[in-house]
Amino acid sequence: MIKMEQFKNRHIGIAEADKQKMLEAIDLSSMDELIDQTIPSDIRLKEPLSLPKALSEQEYAEEIAHIASLNDIYTSYIGMGWYDTVTPAVIYRNVFENPVWYTSYTPYQAEISQGRLEALLNFQTVVSELTALPLANSSLLDEATAAAEAATMMYGLRSREQVKNGVETLFVDENTFPQTLAVLKTRMYYAGIEVVVGDYKTVTFDKPFFGAIIQYPNGNGNVEDYTDFTERAHKAECKVAVATDLMALAILTPPGEWGADIAFGSSQRFGIPMFYGGPSAAFFATRDEYKRSMPGRIIGISKDAYGREALRMALQTREQHIKREKATSNICTAQALLATMSSFYAVYHGPEGLRNIARRIHSIATHVSEELKGMGYKQLNNSYFDTLKISLPEGISMQDIRDNTEMRHINLRYFESGEVGISIDETTNVYRVHELLAAFAMTAGSSKEYLLEELPVKSGLKESQLRKSGFLAHPTFNSYHTETELMRYIKRLERKDISLAHSMISLGSCTMKLNAASELLPLGLAGFQRIHPFAPLEQVSGYTQMITELEEMLAEITGFAATSLQPNSGAAGEYAGLITIASYLESNGEGHRKVVLIPASAHGTNPASAVQAGFKPVTVASDANGNVDMGDLRVKVEQYRENLAAYMITYPSTHGIFETEIREMCRLIHEAGGQVYMDGANMNAQVGLTNPGTIGADVCHLNLHKTFAIPHGGGGPGVGPICVAEHLVPFLPGHPVTMSTDKNTVSGAAYGSAGVTEITYAYIRMMGAEGLKEATEAAILSANYVAEKLKDSYGIVYRGARGRVGHELILECRSLKEVSGITETDIAKRLIDYGYHAPTLSFPVHGTLMIEPTESESLAELDRFVSVMNQIHEEIIEVSRGEYTAEDNVLVNAPHPQYEVTADDWDHAYPRSKAAYPLPFVAENKFWVNVARVDNAYGDRNLVSCLCQQ
Ligand SMILES: *Cc1c(COP(=O)(O)O)cnc(C)c1O
Repeated sequence: MIKMEQFKNRHIGIAEADKQKMLEAIDLSSMDELIDQTIPSDIRLKEPLSLPKALSEQEYAEEIAHIASLNDIYTSYIGMGWYDTVTPAVIYRNVFENPVWYTSYTPYQAEISQGRLEALLNFQTVVSELTALPLANSSLLDEATAAAEAATMMYGLRSREQVKNGVETLFVDENTFPQTLAVLKTRMYYAGIEVVVGDYKTVTFDKPFFGAIIQYPNGNGNVEDYTDFTERAHKAECKVAVATDLMALAILTPPGEWGADIAFGSSQRFGIPMFYGGPSAAFFATRDEYKRSMPGRIIGISKDAYGREALRMALQTREQHIKREKATSNICTAQALLATMSSFYAVYHGPEGLRNIARRIHSIATHVSEELKGMGYKQLNNSYFDTLKISLPEGISMQDIRDNTEMRHINLRYFESGEVGISIDETTNVYRVHELLAAFAMTAGSSKEYLLEELPVKSGLKESQLRKSGFLAHPTFNSYHTETELMRYIKRLERKDISLAHSMISLGSCTMKLNAASELLPLGLAGFQRIHPFAPLEQVSGYTQMITELEEMLAEITGFAATSLQPNSGAAGEYAGLITIASYLESNGEGHRKVVLIPASAHGTNPASAVQAGFKPVTVASDANGNVDMGDLRVKVEQYRENLAAYMITYPSTHGIFETEIREMCRLIHEAGGQVYMDGANMNAQVGLTNPGTIGADVCHLNLHKTFAIPHGGGGPGVGPICVAEHLVPFLPGHPVTMSTDKNTVSGAAYGSAGVTEITYAYIRMMGAEGLKEATEAAILSANYVAEKLKDSYGIVYRGARGRVGHELILECRSLKEVSGITETDIAKRLIDYGYHAPTLSFPVHGTLMIEPTESESLAELDRFVSVMNQIHEEIIEVSRGEYTAEDNVLVNAPHPQYEVTADDWDHAYPRSKAAYPLPFVAENKFWVNVARVDNAYGDRNLVSCLCQQ
């Protein structure tokens, strides 16, 4: 029988015939030979993975449509941080469904990222102006973790006196969303910070607090006046961070105007579907003076080599890549794509449009409140934006209301204390109000008829609560209010960026592989989009089925017993995995074990996460071959034997090498009573061939946005699930609303960014066990092929015991610098002239580039990339021979922007054609940048991170 087209043949870039050619190029005759030489035999899987049979793309489309249909879409009035919203179709189609936006990388290479940098700068502007705080970052993971970041930041900002006096207590107002409270409790517990939950009205400050967290409007929906509280807090040297709602701030007095030091929250209702909890972008804003303590990435305005304005990521020296255990936070991947979408939502509506949406929401809430009072219900919020808290009259039970609303496919919030909550959102219309009121009327036995008529304009807010200040006056927010204008603005930005839609992005450790359209299309199904994370379980059978199966498949792939999908990034997974270990040790009476050994080559998030989890990181040296120095490891294990909690190891190593001593490392740690944490960022070299469970680890995180096909989104969303061995299962993250325990809650939603987990589900269901294994083999083959082709020009820094690299390779650039003065940064920037994104720069080894081709690139593309790298090598040699000076050559002047190449004067020592069209293929598909090399230092000295109009 002729087989149906298999997805793996679309995903894997190397055709069968090309595989043979590539094997020959590296002097091998079979794939098995290559894998035998690459992966130590004692960790190889004996059996194929046990996964469901691979589906074709069409079979999967049918299957997933069915699964989505098992989710019942109810109109949600649950609120609690998630609101239905209208995603403007022009944004959905041109951003969310557009590979240029969703496959691009975090904008470290500023010159090819000006589009997404501008969108993120717009996001910061929206946040800054709505909160009235001057400095905003370009997103955090979610509102609940943003609360924890705020607490940590306030803790770090304690005065010398406070540190000396041991001020270690955080105040949290009791009317804060339960998931925010749960994440705060988790994070503060492991950080050794005490949390006092109380009533902000009566708290005395007799006990000193370093910080306070309140919510505005509060967790019940009431709009409190915190002016007095903030004054009292500041007098007591306590900083104030407020969880808030951007939509409400369009009409309420913003926190910056009543004295808050930090404002944070979720921007989900700015056009992002609820997706059963995520992804959406959290925001975070603070005062200028705290800029060096700010978590997350900040986009700033700088200038290029010719003094023209250009954007780039500011103050990167705060980040974990550089600061490691001293970083302000472990945040790496955040929520860039969703922040971008929310920024376009604000651009599309503009200040007047946003105000109208907010006024309309408030007006409907006021109307519903009045009508319900008329039926005999009591509305407990004396002042509200969108949320009502209703106490039921005598004789009416919660179940009565529930029956009558669920019959109409309506979900309300049900308080444990017996009240019901109603949160109005942008999608609430006359018909929905009618249905809602009819359900309440029926329950109350009211005979009032509700007619479908236009809703009256109303407000229940006091004059003193209303926002008087304007916002978003910049032309960007006042020019693109028609679809044509917005579409063109989006396209204008898009054209400035390199993504996978242009060329291979060979970023080592980041695994920029194919994000297949058939994996992404189902995200458009309403059955996945319009589901509130706290919807009753019986309405979400589709999500439950998909999540359960995905958890099981990931556990099978990693060789572990169970999975938690809760963490929203790799770094968040590291944190979750480490506190799982901490809980386990504590339960065995071994809570004193606080030392985490981390190899020197580790990613910066590892030490930063260890500190966040309350551990003390200790570095283990590397040997001359880049491997863990076994001698040093033994010494450190002995030295810290009594207090050893864990060992964090990336495998294959961040050098891309399958270290042969890995089992011995695990044995040493276990024998000393420690746990082995495997950083799974490099799982693309393991899937189907080996796994952390088989190797002997106890827990790992996966980056679904690397190995498992979720697109990188220009810096998020990410999904960083953890998989654990049997003994750690009882300590996996809980959730206060939808799970049986709230212990170790690490995200606001029980399944984190549940929406995009569908992409990974699709990837595994369509690849099947055989396809996944072939993908890993192809990834290893491609890396070894590229290593072969570049070894003579640049040199390969590290190789495994039998001469092979893993799925990535580190290119030596230091010797070239010695003879020519050309740096790895110059090479990275010169690649832009050829239309390529740079490989990973100076990580994990300074003066090098790390290349990870992944399995998705074709031999033709690999050869093109190799020819470019070798041509650049030629250019470097020209400089070393003195053909061009150190000051004027194509490398140090790269990239060459269009305005420079087309200018009437040209006074470089080389011709324009050498600058812009260095190889014939470039001219055919030229990617033009329009900024020259960006000056990072200038922008850091003069931080401008907002288009705010002073
Ligand atoms: C990407 C990466 C991380 C961090 O993952 P995020 O999702 O960006 O938080 C951690 N470790 C390694 C080795 C990585 O490559």
